[in-house]
Amino acid sequence: MTQFPIKEFEQIRTPFYYYDLNLLQKTLEEINKYSAKENYHVHYAIKANANSEILRIIKEAGLGIDCVSGGEVQTALNAGFEPSKIVFAGVGKSDWEIELGLDNNISCFNVESSAELDVIQEIAEAKGKTANVALRVNPNVDAHTHHYITTGLAENKFGISLELLDKVIERCITSPNINLQGLHFHIGSQITINEPFKHLCGKINDIQKYYESQGIKFDSINVGGGLGIDYDNPDANPIPDFKSYFETFDTHLKLRDGQQLHFELGRSVVGQCGSLITKVLYVKEGLKKKFAIVDAGFTELIRPALYEAHHLIENISNQDEATDVYDVVGPICESSDRFGEEEKLPITKRGDLLALRSAGAYGEIMASQYNCRQLPKSYFNTNL
Ligand SMILES: *Cc1c(COP(=O)(O)O)cnc(C)c1O
Repeated sequence: MTQFPIKEFEQIRTPFYYYDLNLLQKTLEEINKYSAKENYHVHYAIKANANSEILRIIKEAGLGIDCVSGGEVQTALNAGFEPSKIVFAGVGKSDWEIELGLDNNISCFNVESSAELDVIQEIAEAKGKTANVALRVNPNVDAHTHHYITTGLAENKFGISLELLDKVIERCITSPNINLQGLHFHIGSQITINEPFKHLCGKINDIQKYYESQGIKFDSINVGGGLGIDYDNPDANPIPDFKSYFETFDTHLKLRDGQQLHFELGRSVVGQCGSLITKVLYVKEGLKKKFAIVDAGFTELIRPALYEAHHLIENISNQDEATDVYDVVGPICESSDRFGEEEKLPITKRGDLLALRSAGAYGEIMASQYNCRQLPKSYFNTNL
């Protein structure tokens, strides 16, 4: 079990996020080690976690940024990321967001429809600029993940269907302020097997071959993100298998001469370095169940309520042999405010601290103030 600084934790008001920046650093070293090719570019998907300390370390490691909103583009710029390393995706870019990207000369807009392309053309023309774009293609690949986080299957709001791609490419070519840089893909999230990525490579190979026969070449291919983490065994697998992830693309994706390959990793970069620390307020004995009522709720960590996700729960105050079974629930006035059902924990009492593990991605960033609660603070192994 990870050792947490319990004495220090006891001085801090709960709930709060705790980040192990050493683990983040090691994770980034692995990413850089296995993606160390001149034409490989890794962008961090900032929507997973935009905590400023975390962004600082990711920037130092040399990664670029993948954004899905103007707010994220601004956050990345404020954190000091080079505009030439910022890409901007998203199905619903507002005019001001497109303007922000153009004004700051970001490297690429990942465009998701013909309608969006026309608006970018119009805004770029008014500014006398050229917008670099990649077309986000829906490759119809089953990511074998939860249906809420699958994005690459037919008839879903993301991307351009293959059947419509010819037309949109044609539109790029005839739009004077658009520079078509390449194709973009993102098939889903929390993908823990290589098969979907292999399948994606095959699709991209077919698409490239078809367009090559039409005389169309792309400068870059962007394969998105989606690599998963081990939520069940964070201590056994603190760092995802980046070796085999990057090797899948090395082996199966046929890049053309000089072609650049972009990745957009979110969860796999930051997921394991964060934990949500919460205190047990009450142990409530029901008729058949015991409830451990904690002071964190879906306002601090919404993944269980939103995606039926499960985070490993550890009682870090008390590691007794004797155990009992608890439903671990939060204080929010919604039945979905529950972190675990029938969790086997050491005998748990009021005042014990619990760690909800693997909460570094889509945790703090999704926190809300519902019930007029305060947003959680964050602490780091380096300043405790
Ligand atoms: C969310 C997202 C990512 C990152 O996904 P992870 O599963 O966190 O790696 C990458 N690209 C795009 C376009 C996204 O929307």
